Amino acid sequence: MSKTNVILTIPEPGVFELIERPYPKIKAGYAIIKNEIAPICLEGTRIWAKHDFEFHDDPTHLGHESVGTVVEILPGSNYKVGDRVIIFQGDHCGRCHACRSGLSPTYCQSNNPDIHGVEHSAMKGIEYKNESESGGFAMAHYRIAPEANLYLIPDTVNFRYAAACNCSYGAGFSNQEVMNVKAGDTVLVGGIGFIAMGHVISALYRNATVIALIRNAFRQKMLADMGVAHFVNPEDDDWLEQIIALTYEGQGVDHAVDGSGVTYYQEKLMKATRIYGTVNFSGHTPGAKIGLSPLHDVIDPAHHFWGQHDVRIQDREFLVRSLLNKDVQHGIDVMVTHEFPMSRAGEAFDVQVSKKCGKIYLYPHDNCP
Ligand SMILES: [Zn+2]
Ligand SMILES: [Zn+2]
Repeated sequence: MSKTNVILTIPEPGVFELIERPYPKIKAGYAIIKNEIAPICLEGTRIWAKHDFEFHDDPTHLGHESVGTVVEILPGSNYKVGDRVIIFQGDHCGRCHACRSGLSPTYCQSNNPDIHGVEHSAMKGIEYKNESESGGFAMAHYRIAPEANLYLIPDTVNFRYAAACNCSYGAGFSNQEVMNVKAGDTVLVGGIGFIAMGHVISALYRNATVIALIRNAFRQKMLADMGVAHFVNPEDDDWLEQIIALTYEGQGVDHAVDGSGVTYYQEKLMKATRIYGTVNFSGHTPGAKIGLSPLHDVIDPAHHFWGQHDVRIQDREFLVRSLLNKDVQHGIDVMVTHEFPMSRAGEAFDVQVSKKCGKIYLYPHDNCP
């Protein structure tokens, strides 16, 4: 009996179908992983609701975050069958600035469609290079990944915690490494979805004080469960005074993080940040733009603007190490509000569209707890 792969497709908005594809094939440098958990990024709000795709996905190529078990390697591999791994998204060339400098794989040239074309870059490029008819993606039974983007999960850490290492806790943690968020700092977070929740877990792990600028009551309760003590409603007339009063000598916050991608939050976050503070953009909304005065918004406050996709290679070790921390585990337990077997993916996507959720996990093999 020949083995097959099963992949999730969204042929039209609000409709999903699981279809059979040939089992993946690999070449040197790659491994085949049985996907155990495929966290939902924006496949619900972006693809399920609007059929809005990024260059790396389309109706039959879905999911970029997963953790799983190595099931096939080639001779000479540094991994073995049975290894439990996090898959950091995308390919790895090992010979570009991003790879050499330990930066996020998103910035590796092999994931750049402007260099290699949409069909030959990123996760579609992984299928192309391996001459495989499936396996580039996370919402599937089996996935191909470059060994350079695998990371061993410690024996005492379960897949649920490890699965937070991509676009939620992982992205927040890696951004904060660059921002140098440390004990005693104050971090203001606005526009709160699962990436901003990842920032919150990371900031609390670093013993920073977190202030949430928030309207969504469901998510405010989640943040309180994580340990956030300060909440400010952006619709209050004195929202800025409330934030400033929570900072040392009324200086303003040391770091501000936007998870929304819209100016409503971004402009408020910039106003509340102290001189020489960092302003982080971790959310993006299609078409959204912000107007900046170089003098008044950048030079006068001496702000550092910062943003990056996914997780830098050099941050992986301390990110995974932090998963052993009980407070980080508790934060992830709170953040992951829903778990669904992949055969019920439609319900999972509907929940994401409702915004009454944090991070949602799909179980490709339907072995949902
Ligand atoms: Zn590279
Ligand atoms: Zn993602």
